[in-house]
Amino acid sequence: MAGIIVYVLGKDGEFNKNSLGAISKAAQLAGELGGEASAVVVGESFDDAKLAELGKYGAAKVYKVTGPEGVAQPVVDAIEKIAGENDIKYALFGGGLLGFEIGAGLTARLNWGVTAEATGIRAEGGKLIVERPVLQDSAIVDVAYKGDGGVIVSRLNAFEPNDSIGAAGEVVDTPVDFKDFSLRAKLVSRGVQEGADVNIEDADVIIAGGRGLGEAANFSLADDLAASLGGTVAATRAVVDAGWFPYAGQIGQTGKTVAPKLYLALGISGAIQHKVGMQASENIVAINKDPNAPIFEFSDLGVVGDLHTIAPKLTEAIKAKKG
Ligand SMILES: Cc1cc2nc3c(=O)[nH]c(=O)nc-3n(C[C@H](O)[C@H](O)[C@H](O)COP(=O)(O)OP(=O)(O)OC[C@H]3O[C@@H](n4cnc5c(N)ncnc54)[C@H](O)[C@@H]3O)c2cc1C
Repeated sequence: MAGIIVYVLGKDGEFNKNSLGAISKAAQLAGELGGEASAVVVGESFDDAKLAELGKYGAAKVYKVTGPEGVAQPVVDAIEKIAGENDIKYALFGGGLLGFEIGAGLTARLNWGVTAEATGIRAEGGKLIVERPVLQDSAIVDVAYKGDGGVIVSRLNAFEPNDSIGAAGEVVDTPVDFKDFSLRAKLVSRGVQEGADVNIEDADVIIAGGRGLGEAANFSLADDLAASLGGTVAATRAVVDAGWFPYAGQIGQTGKTVAPKLYLALGISGAIQHKVGMQASENIVAINKDPNAPIFEFSDLGVVGDLHTIAPKLTEAIKAKKG
């Protein structure tokens, strides 16, 4: 028998979807291992009635810990205590930076193994086997744990929530003596990522900007062109990492896959990791000052030149043509 514990967090009175998906997966797996799934919630954002709702998603018990919310170390303290007092062999996190931080801390504290970026988990011979993509997602490996237990951090939303697994969960008040160092960080505020609602997957026309734009302000060239064509602006990872554009608009292997009628690249080299996210576009047009840029190898139309000169002229020409 081996139990699985899931850290759950939420915002504005609702639990995160990826936390709920992780509980649903844990409940299915715990059933196959002959144990039970439980949830741990640290903070004071949810009352007992709301916490008990986690039972619908498969949490037989909900450990309610009063303490600092949204920081990693108090959760490590809480899970260390709960796992030590109960038959819990695995901790599952539904992804996200906090999940990675808690998962790493817990692994060190309990001397368990850890697998990050899991996309699948199955029970086999009374143990969990974790499926994890490797080599830039070109292969999947199976990971098993040698020691006492395992930490699993999944990719965000890897598992679908299922609210018809159980009835109300038993809410267990769980006092925890936090370590001194666990209380040194506190959550000051939570923000909303600007541009998080950028929707590029449904766009017919995409103007994608890369490092060749030179600086964040020059995305206005892409904005103007997109406005003239009725399109949407997207970006490469290089500029997203530089903070020039929101992650929600990133095309590629670690971003989104798009297939618009027209994809127009401004200052994008055409790295393989970008190409895999846009190669299915119907018409690919690239403006790049380097005639040897890889993007020209898979463009329908290539324009060699300085985008700072060409993009405004193109916008003007399109506007003039549209009258
Ligand atoms: C594991 C992994 C995952 C990755 N995932 C992604 C992903 O999901 N998406 C992604 O996009 N990348 C991804 N990358 C990064 C990828 O390898 C490239 O580094 C990135 O795509 C390059 O972005 P870029 O084309 O904007 O910049 P660069 O490669 O720097 O290209 C800039 C281009 O602009 C041109 N240029 C410069 N000035 C001008 C000008 N004035 N006028 C016209 N052209 C100009 C240059 O000639 C150059 O070709 C990933 C990398 C790794 C290792």
